[in-house]
Amino acid sequence: MMKLTFLGTCAGTEPQAWGHHSALIIAIADRLYWFDVGETAAYTAHLLGYDLLKTEAIFISHTHMDHIGGLPYLLWNLRKLNLPYMPQAGAIDGRRIRLFIPDVTVWQGIAQLLRGTEGNFELAFQIEVAKPHDGLFFANDDIQVSGFHNRHMGTPADGVWRSFSFQIRHGTTTLVYSGDIEAVEELLPLLPNCDLLLIETGHHSVEAVCTRLAAEPQFTGAVYFTHNGAEIRAEPIQMLLLARKILGDRVYIARDGMTIVV
Ligand SMILES: [Zn+2]
Repeated sequence: MMKLTFLGTCAGTEPQAWGHHSALIIAIADRLYWFDVGETAAYTAHLLGYDLLKTEAIFISHTHMDHIGGLPYLLWNLRKLNLPYMPQAGAIDGRRIRLFIPDVTVWQGIAQLLRGTEGNFELAFQIEVAKPHDGLFFANDDIQVSGFHNRHMGTPADGVWRSFSFQIRHGTTTLVYSGDIEAVEELLPLLPNCDLLLIETGHHSVEAVCTRLAAEPQFTGAVYFTHNGAEIRAEPIQMLLLARKILGDRVYIARDGMTIVV
């Protein structure tokens, strides 16, 4: 069983009453997995009752601000919650938390920022940093995560892809998290076994997304719109009705705090 909570469902805009920037948390058994960490994500999760110290791994689709703005705060909070004077003192001493981030120079900047705060950001636990890549790159007893590069950040001159969609497998359930994509077509290879598609609408019209998905008869999974753009923010009900006219009642519009269990 996986419990998913959308912590932020807004596209990368200026501050919006609609919601916060992209962040998704998946709880499996006693462990937490993060998929993008937009501003306030850790704070929101903490207030929702998630125990941040259960964090096992963090997956960043690409290093745009609306996907990483909350990353320093997540790591900062982990350190704080684990300090000797806290109720859960030392709970993650010696543990290894995995961070997958496509651009390691951005991580170096975040690490520098963290070291500039109190205590030189010295930790009793380890943050192991690596880049996601195409194919399976993370697996444990809970999940298997595979990367599929996309062209949201263009085609890199150096051949190193910096934007990814993720396929997440847990038992017999397969979930796809689009990250930000250049075109819906980039997700087509991921659709045949997909039970749950979490797809951004920040760069694509609802009608175009639904029409493209409807043209893939082998894809029968549920669809959650996230990283929502101006169209959905302005007219959520009309957009949901339009989407359901094309794809049926398996489509939902994710909102901040929405939790689903699969
Ligand atoms: Zn974005």
